[in-house]
Amino acid sequence: MNKVYFLKDFKRLGKVAEELLLPFYPPNSEILVKIHLGEVGNQTALQPQDVKPLVEIFKKNKISLVFFDTPVLYQSVRRNVLSYRLFAQGKGWGKLGKIKIASRFQTFKAKDFQVEIAQDLLKAQNVLVVSHVKGHPLSGFGGAIKNLGMGGVSRKTKELEHNLGRPVFVDKCQGCGICAEVCPFKAFKMVNGQAQFENEACFGCSLCVIKCPHQTLAPRKALFDDLLAQAAALVIKNLPQRTFYLNFLKNITKFCDCFHHPGEKIAPDLGILFSQNPLAIEQASLDLLNQKAGGNLFEKVNRKDPYLQLKFAAGYSKGVVKYQLESI
Ligand code: SF4
Ligand code: SF4
Repeated sequence: MNKVYFLKDFKRLGKVAEELLLPFYPPNSEILVKIHLGEVGNQTALQPQDVKPLVEIFKKNKISLVFFDTPVLYQSVRRNVLSYRLFAQGKGWGKLGKIKIASRFQTFKAKDFQVEIAQDLLKAQNVLVVSHVKGHPLSGFGGAIKNLGMGGVSRKTKELEHNLGRPVFVDKCQGCGICAEVCPFKAFKMVNGQAQFENEACFGCSLCVIKCPHQTLAPRKALFDDLLAQAAALVIKNLPQRTFYLNFLKNITKFCDCFHHPGEKIAPDLGILFSQNPLAIEQASLDLLNQKAGGNLFEKVNRKDPYLQLKFAAGYSKGVVKYQLESI
């Protein structure tokens, strides 16, 4: 059974890192930390002070950290290597370790598309995947799967993930209007009792496909959650054996860290999860949040079932999501 450790007291992060993570990594080594370094203006993404206690423990033991991310698809200072690095430095990440933004990628074949994975992730001997759990308008929620499936790949792959989940009409529209009602980006309009699709407004979340009760719509290639999971499973498969996962259940907003203003907080801060299994840590994160919320939290706020990406990822990695939770 996969162990997931649950730390409720954020202040004990340094102590837990010493006991749990330090023995896992070799002394005098370097760890590549895959992390979202936060969008301009976003106050709820992970900040340097959130991981500082952990960094200090590593530093004391001569283990250095490289904070790592990939350029984003949309217009932002995080779109280019140099401007992203300078921005992250300005936020204080450079005081904790080196900052590296991916510029080289290697192509792999997933089921439905080519996935370009950051070479740094492929070459690293030691990896720590630090994910901030929060909502997301396209995938319902973002955790470790999102951090790797979108955050570990090239801009070209990100674009494909957004494009290939867009809807196409495969049957006659019955005019129920549900697609227009659920689309978070108003990419469907009802005109004369028929759904009209506006490609320019669409971000490819596939929610309209999932919700159309008449199977009138299909994704161009696969559901967004499926594409995200295909990419994540490939990244996970190619990470070194010495990879540990941390999920921060803190500042859980409706939308993701890519938003300047990610919306209201939708859950209380719960703690930090630790695991060597990316699927187990995702399942445990969702279960803990849902227990607290008394229902499927992210489906309620973003209409997308967050377990969907997990189900696909488990299928592609032939992995299990069952876990044993141990409070520490
Ligand atoms: S895929 Fe998502 S963004 Fe695009 S039309 Fe459907 S619901 Fe709207
Ligand atoms: S949900 Fe399906 S059937 Fe209903 S309006 Fe949209 S495309 Fe037509």
